[in-house]
Amino acid sequence: MKQAEVLEILKETGALRTGHFRLSSGLHSGEYIEKFQVFRYPVKVQSLCRAIVKRFEDDEIEVVLGPTTGGILLAFEVARQMKIAALYAERADAPPPSGSRRELRRGQVLNPGTRVLVVDDVLTTGGAIRECLDLVRSTGAELVGTAVLADRSGGTVDLGCRLDALVTLYITNFPPDLCPLCRSGEPLTEPGSKYLTEKK
Ligand SMILES: [Zn+2]
Repeated sequence: MKQAEVLEILKETGALRTGHFRLSSGLHSGEYIEKFQVFRYPVKVQSLCRAIVKRFEDDEIEVVLGPTTGGILLAFEVARQMKIAALYAERADAPPPSGSRRELRRGQVLNPGTRVLVVDDVLTTGGAIRECLDLVRSTGAELVGTAVLADRSGGTVDLGCRLDALVTLYITNFPPDLCPLCRSGEPLTEPGSKYLTEKK
């Protein structure tokens, strides 16, 4: 699957919106990500997962692991297509500074030496994925790599392992007084729950 096709799916599902947005940080941006929107369309998620499966088809993956919440949906579907097991990494409390880590609950076990692929929806700072990598390493399993639908860090995050992003996004945020969209008179939208219900 080409990057343009992935981008098209993210746009048509509403996971990636273009316009003129005021982010919760106060900065303005021409793009806004509401990543969970893509999961409203399971058939589209299936085809995105197929692209992940293709990239790792020669890597003898034995288990696909994803973090809550989007990551577990992807882990389920990638594992279904690979006809292997999925594992779901849930958030757990940890001492500062991180404050959180990931753990397997509900009787799930990851055995030492198992070849693991970690999947998640959107890579921003890589926090959830790093927690999954720590979890994999702590069990003695073998980390093969990670896959995400979109890397919105513009390729700047280094996870210290193989990372396959179906699309890499380069999103620029502007302080209001330097915003080119403000200058061109583009109406400003404040994304939020109300905004998200506007379109089906
Ligand atoms: Zn603006």
